[in-house]
Formats: sequence, C-alpha cells, structure tokens
Amino acid sequence: MGWSNWSGSVAAPVAVTRPQSEDELAALVRSAAKVRATGAGHSFMPLCASNDLLLGLDDLPGEIRVAPDRRTARIPAGWSIKRLTAALWDEGLALANQGDVNPQSLAGAMATGTHGTGVDLGSLATMARGFRLIGADGEARWCDADTESDLYQAQRLSLGLFGIATEIEVALVPAFHLAERIEKRRWDEVRKSYDDLAQRHRHIEFWFFPHADHVILKTLDPCDPCDPPPTTTDMEETAFRRVLDVAARLPFLTPWLQRGMMKTGFDGHRRGPAHSIFPSDRTIRFEEMEYEMPRAAGLDALAEVVGWIRKKRLPVTFPFEYRTVAADDIWISPMNAGPVAAISMHQYAKMPWQGVFAEAEAIFRGHDGRPHWAKRHTLTRADVDSLYPLAERYRCVRRTADPHGKFLNPHLEALFS
Ligand SMILES: Cc1cc2nc3c(=O)[nH]c(=O)nc-3n(C[C@H](O)[C@H](O)[C@H](O)COP(=O)(O)OP(=O)(O)OC[C@H]3O[C@@H](n4cnc5c(N)ncnc54)[C@H](O)[C@@H]3O)c2cc1C
Repeated sequence: MGWSNWSGSVAAPVAVTRPQSEDELAALVRSAAKVRATGAGHSFMPLCASNDLLLGLDDLPGEIRVAPDRRTARIPAGWSIKRLTAALWDEGLALANQGDVNPQSLAGAMATGTHGTGVDLGSLATMARGFRLIGADGEARWCDADTESDLYQAQRLSLGLFGIATEIEVALVPAFHLAERIEKRRWDEVRKSYDDLAQRHRHIEFWFFPHADHVILKTLDPCDPCDPPPTTTDMEETAFRRVLDVAARLPFLTPWLQRGMMKTGFDGHRRGPAHSIFPSDRTIRFEEMEYEMPRAAGLDALAEVVGWIRKKRLPVTFPFEYRTVAADDIWISPMNAGPVAAISMHQYAKMPWQGVFAEAEAIFRGHDGRPHWAKRHTLTRADVDSLYPLAERYRCVRRTADPHGKFLNPHLEALFS
C-alpha cells in the first residue's frame, strides 16, 4: 500500500510511517538512509516523493503551549490547520491569515510558503518564530532568530530539507470574526478597480473562468460576532462537477459551458469565526500551477494568459484564482522581492494539464513571475539561481545540516544538492 498526493499526480511505493513518540521518530531518522516527511500530501510537486522512509506526524503526542504574552504559541508541527485553528479559537487566539483550505499540516504549509490573500498579510511562513527539528543525525535542536539563526532563516521556507519539524512557534492574533461576501462582477470592471478594492478589504480574491466575461469576487472583512449566523455560499460543487465531466468528454464545449455557468448567480454572504470562514471544501480534484507576480504586473499577466486561452479556445475548465500577498524577507520565498499578485491556474484532474501549464508558465515567467514551490513548475537549478540571489546560501545551510543528503529526493536534489 503506497502513498499518493491529494490530486493523484504524485505517488510513492511506500506507506507512511507514523511514529508514536519523538524518541521513536528520532531513532527512525537516525537509522534511515533517506527520509521525507509528509503532512496532508496537498503539494502538487513531488516534494514528498520517496522510495524509502516517508514520515507522517499525525500520531505524535503534543499540545498547544501559549506564551504568557499570548502573542505566540508552540504548536505540534504535524497538526492540521483545521485542528490547530479550532484549538486556538478555544484560547481566544487565531492565525492572522489562512489559505483557502485547512487540511494541510502546519509544517507542510509553512515549508512551501502557503498563503491566503490580503494586501498587508504575508504567507504562513512569515508567522514562524522558531522550530524544533529532528536533524539528519537524529538529534533534536531548536532554531529561531537568535539561536542557529541561519538554520532558522532557511527553515522558514524549508521544503523539508533541514530536518523533521516537530514543534513550531507561531505568531498569533486575538480571535476575530469575518464576514464573507461573494458576488459576480464584470472582469473589465474588476480589472480597473482591483487595486482600490484591495485597499478597502482585509482580504480579496477573484475567480475567473477564462472563457467568461464575469469573475466571482470574494471579500472577507472583520465583523461583529453578534451578527446573524453563517449561511453557506460555496459554489454548488455537484453542478460544477457535472459541467467538468462534460468538458472532459467534449473539451471543445468548454467556452460555451463556462459562459453558460456564469449566467447563473453567485451572490452570497456568510459570517462566523475567522477560522471557519477562511477555508472552503475542495472535493473536486484538480492539478494546479501558481505564479507569484510582481504586484504591478499581475492583472496584465492574467489578461495575457486569458487572451491566449480564448484565442486558441483551449479547454481550461477551472477558473483562475487571483490573490495578493505581502512582501517578506524569507530566503527562497517568491514574495521576497516585493508584494505579489498570486495567480493560480487549475485544470480538472481528469484532463491533460502539462501542455497548457507549460505555455502559461512561459507567459508568467515573461512577467518576472516566480512559482509557488508546492505547485506545478519546471524550474531548473539555473532558474533557481537566477530567481533567488540567496539560493546558494540556502544550499550551504542545507549541506551543513544534512551533509549526506538524507532529506533529498530526486526533485529536490536537482535544485538544491
Ligand atoms: C485543495 C488545495 C488547496 C490549496 N490551497 C492553497 C492556498 O490557499 N494557498 C497556498 O499557498 N497553497 C495552497 N495549496 C498548497 C498547499 O498549501 C501546500 O502544498 C502545502 O505544502 C500542503 O501542506 P501539506 O501538509 O499537505 O504538506 P505536504 O504536501 O505533505 O508537504 C509539503 C512539504 O512540507 C514538508 N513537510 C511536511 N511535514 C513536515 C515536517 N513535519 N517537517 C519537515 N518537513 C515537512 C514535506 O516534506 C514537503 O516538502 C493547496 C493545495 C490543495 C491541494
């Protein structure tokens, strides 16, 4: 019985080993020749691919330990975002931002620079303040901005290269409520007003079926907890799945299907604790590529990709997702050159994605985009060097932490050995 990622596009012939204690975990790492860790397996790139030891931390005992000033907490690294945000809510605390699903593990989400949307809000990796790691030698060590600071800087977006994280200190904010609004808007109108809208809302994103003229705009803003209880507004997935299955059989109908679908209403409104409003259910499997564009180039890059898809009438069946993420200072973060517009391109998992992703990737690269590390990209080692001035420093820390390449797999070896 092997392992596969969420979308089914990456598989490993080994089952996940789930140690019951940190001592057992350390002994497993010490004696293995090669080790990878996996959280929820939500990465599209072969980050967790392994023919050897593949570790899952779901069974490790642990608890949340809130600091006396309540600005940080130490959280078991293998806990899912869903589990930890529910536990934080009970403490009156929250993550400042989340992505659009919550099954990911804390360690896995931080390791890839997972982010939500919001002009002033950084990725989850920016919330990490320290890590407890089981190193390649099987020894536990702590790193933060003052202790083993180079290891900490590299580990903030680690791709699992520096050790197995068992506990992470995370910056927190007081618990808050959010109101979500979803509405259909014309693309040309949103294109003109997006920057203004992004300043006015704490979180904003839109979904754009490339063959349609309207987008689905979603905003999230803090609200009063005494307002009415939530009513669900998620897109009706059964109807969407039917549309996708027709498109998979008859791809040439895609433009027509999308325009028809966007004639229906998408307006909705719900409220609730932030951690219950951030995530949506994603039951339809897709493959995804995401490029982080310099903020000023984002809408033009999206318009160019959509224009190319329309011109060729390509059967890209899922909508693009357009978000904003604040700048950070993490060594190999795609956000470290300035604030970005994050453009996600999806394709139904039952349909071919390689060709369309490759052509769109060239357009995104042409606008100085850098890919999300967990999502489909074709960067080479030379590309990594040209996009990330600190790549060699990152590799140097990796060589010191893991001189025999225990945490490398072929994908990571090609980029970071
Ligand atoms: C439906 C869906 C929705 C998504 N939504 C978003 C989104 O809104 N925003 C966004 O930015 N991304 C999003 N992603 C991407 C996703 O957040 C990342 O792929 C994330 O890494 C997944 O976390 P995971 O626990 O599944 O990690 P995995 O994919 O299992 O692992 C990711 C990396 O973390 C490492 N790792 C895991 N655990 C440990 C550990 N304990 N110690 C050391 N290394 C470890 C792995 O080795 C690997 O390198 C989405 C993906 C899917 C499938």
